[in-house]
Order: sequence, then structure tokens, then C-alpha cells
Amino acid sequence: ALISQAEFVKSSVKTEDCPSDGLPEFALVGRSNVGKSSLLNSLVRRKKLALTSKKPGKTQCINHFRINDSWYLVDLPGYGYASAPHELRMDWAEFTKDYFLNRSTLVSVFLLIDASIPAKQIDLDYASWLGQNQIPMTIIFTKCDKRKKKKNGGKRPEENVDDFQHLIRGFFQSVPPWIMTSSVTHQGRDEILLHMAQLRNY
Ligand code: GDP
Repeated sequence: ALISQAEFVKSSVKTEDCPSDGLPEFALVGRSNVGKSSLLNSLVRRKKLALTSKKPGKTQCINHFRINDSWYLVDLPGYGYASAPHELRMDWAEFTKDYFLNRSTLVSVFLLIDASIPAKQIDLDYASWLGQNQIPMTIIFTKCDKRKKKKNGGKRPEENVDDFQHLIRGFFQSVPPWIMTSSVTHQGRDEILLHMAQLRNY
């Protein structure tokens, strides 16, 4: 399941502009600062593959990376910039929702959740929306290496993971698969790649 080749293919502003070769794909999405670029780079074992612009207000794109010439990793812009104006946040929602609902080659959405802090309402809202719309998803808990800190709610990553799963239980008919990860220790990297390989061959 290892990644031997990763190549940036294109940035698209609309679902219709995405690659049309029919290869299966997995989309990574999460709140800004959740650790998405770090995870992407950890998965492909490179320092700088993620090209997504980090500045709100810059073009919000769907970024396709072709992996081993046979499937795509898709980097979606992060949500929940505190500083983003309201219209921009609405744009984000509309544009990614269109992608989630209409991208026929999307195998599963990988929703990234920061395990080093307590659940955020915006994360619960996205999990809820994905569940209600029956979009196949996997929860990726990030930053699982972080120690508990008073200012982060005083809980260990394991406790935040339990709390989050408890909070989202009602949104799904069956609990989505979940993986605990760290881009520092590379915990969960092989598990993610194996999970993606299994989903591609279902
Ligand atoms: P993005 O905005 O979601 O792309 O997040 P980044 O990948 O840029 O990471 C945001 C911040 O969290 C950076 O300071 C990273 O160094 C840090 N970070 C990301 N992943 C991890 C992780 O697994 N463990 C720890 N301790 N820090 C992380």
C-alpha cells in the first residue's frame, strides 16, 4: 500500500473541472491548522507536497495529486478560518458540498479532527452534514502525539477522541471508521494507506 510516486496534477475551482480519467480518489478535509498539509506530506514521505494556499481569500481550490499512477489524494481547502469573512465561509461550504455530493469517483472523505483539543462545533457540524448526506467518510484524528495541556482543556488525545466519537454517534447509521495519527511520529500512516487500499478494492 506504499506510495512510490506522487505527482501534483491540477487545481480546480469547480467539481466539473476535476480530472475526468475516472481514477478513484480520497479527499482530505478539516479545519485550518488541523495538520492537513503535515499529514499529506507524511503520507507521501515528502517535506513539501501540499500546495494549498494557506491564506483565506486566496483561490479556494480542489487540488488533485495522482498517486502511483492509479488513484488520487485530494487536498481541499481548510474550513473555519476565524478571520474569513462570512461570504467566504459560505462559499467554502457550497463549493465543497457540491464536490462531496457530485464527485462520482470520490471513494471516501477523510475528515481530519485535532485530537489535542476538545471538539469544536464547526467539526461537529461538518461530521453531521456528511452523515446526513450519507457521504462515505473516515475520521482521521491528528496530533495524537501531543501531551495534555491545561489550556487545551486538560485532556489527553485519547480522551478527546472518545468524547468526539460520543458526540457524533447520532449522526451516522453506523459509526465511521477512524484512525489515530501523528505527523511527528508517523503513527497511523501505514494504517491510512492500508485502509485506502482496502476501500479501493471493495
Ligand atoms: P493545516 O493548516 O491543516 O495544513 O495544518 P499544518 O499541517 O500546517 O499544521 C498546523 C500546525 O500543527 C503546524 O504548526 C504543525 O507543525 C502542527 N502539527 C501538524 N501535525 C502535527 C502532529 O501530528 N503533531 C504535532 N505535535 N503537531 C502537528
